Amino acid sequence: MIYLDHAAATPVSCKVLNAMEPYFTDQFFNPSAAYLPAKKVSAEYEAAKGVIAHAIGAKANDLVITAGATEANNLAFTTVLAFRSGPRPSGPSPWADGANSRAAALRNAPSRNANTVLYLETEHDSVRKVAEQYGGAPIKVLPSGLIDMEDLKAKITDETVLISVALANNEIGVIQPLSEIAGVIREIKFNRLKRGVKTPLYLHSDASQALNLLDISVARLGVDLLTLNAAKVYGPKGVGALYVSHDVKLSPVSYGGGQEKGLRAGTENVPGVIGFAAAISEAKKHLNGNRKKYATWRKILLSEIKDYELVNKKHSLDNFVVLCFNDIDAERLIYLLEDKEVYVSTGAACAASKGQKSHVLTALGLSDSEIAGSLRLTLGETNTEEQIHEAARLINGAITAERERING
Ligand code: PLP
Repeated sequence: MIYLDHAAATPVSCKVLNAMEPYFTDQFFNPSAAYLPAKKVSAEYEAAKGVIAHAIGAKANDLVITAGATEANNLAFTTVLAFRSGPRPSGPSPWADGANSRAAALRNAPSRNANTVLYLETEHDSVRKVAEQYGGAPIKVLPSGLIDMEDLKAKITDETVLISVALANNEIGVIQPLSEIAGVIREIKFNRLKRGVKTPLYLHSDASQALNLLDISVARLGVDLLTLNAAKVYGPKGVGALYVSHDVKLSPVSYGGGQEKGLRAGTENVPGVIGFAAAISEAKKHLNGNRKKYATWRKILLSEIKDYELVNKKHSLDNFVVLCFNDIDAERLIYLLEDKEVYVSTGAACAASKGQKSHVLTALGLSDSEIAGSLRLTLGETNTEEQIHEAARLINGAITAERERING
């Protein structure tokens, strides 16, 4: 098979699997238990969190482990609940705001058009849908897929608490200028301070797709909250993390045994976190080599595939190739290629499975027929250069076959 859908899922590597294995069997202990073997597991869990945090220039204590990026994104938006629910108790946790109820937060809901939450219109559904729950307003993108900075500036009000912009988009791989956005936010915060406006303003970014390709530092990006996803870096599915800067207040996503500083209760997924740490270490080691390799393969695809419009022309992750075949239904191409064991996608896996029109390509201003004809190829570690040549040949073959069918 030739798998060209690494943005949807990556396989767990042998190294990662081997690192995880003992924590399913011999080292199965609950990290919260009082005896020595459990304490050892707890220490190893914390050390693994330290490795994950180190990869983004943070500390173990800055991370909340979650069951994937969706949950981490949902947790980030609780900044709004934590702020609305009023004065915070000075408890042992620097972040958790569990003492204040969600009911109180909803009673304090701001007026309409307050733009409490802003999110980029091309965000993954796990940001868009939760943003909608908080009455969020979308920030426009330019035809390149980059954020429209003027729209961002125009939409920030004194009531805006959270701005969410993914580091790299999951359908087109476009990388956003986060440090520039952080600069705008810094100025606004300074201005608020001068005028005595007490509303906090946080920058959240979903780095699910970027973690594997970019050298990420939370300080350099200037983010307050950052979502990580093990499943996109050859780690296990259902494991993620939210980086939380020291001064950010959150509200729990689950209540129970008080794990993860009371923000995300539930017995720790020790094998998952050990696997995430092993996967992220591997990714970091091969970052530069992989980028060069994918850039070369991207060029091969762009030169060998015929008759397309390139959608993600600039500012894109090197492993994303989004092609538009204007006169063809990309869904049909997917099935033709599947027959040859070439696996590609039309966009986000979750949207594709529901047959929905891509909100990302719509935001770029593509017409319905251009959207219907768009194919996403995402390169990764399962590929070889021979496969890339072969994929280009098979894609050309599928297009010729489809054009012949259409033209009778
Ligand atoms: N955010 C982005 C950018 C993604 O690409 C994905 C998954 O495709 C998610 C969030 C959701 O991740 P998960 O399904 O692991 O929670």
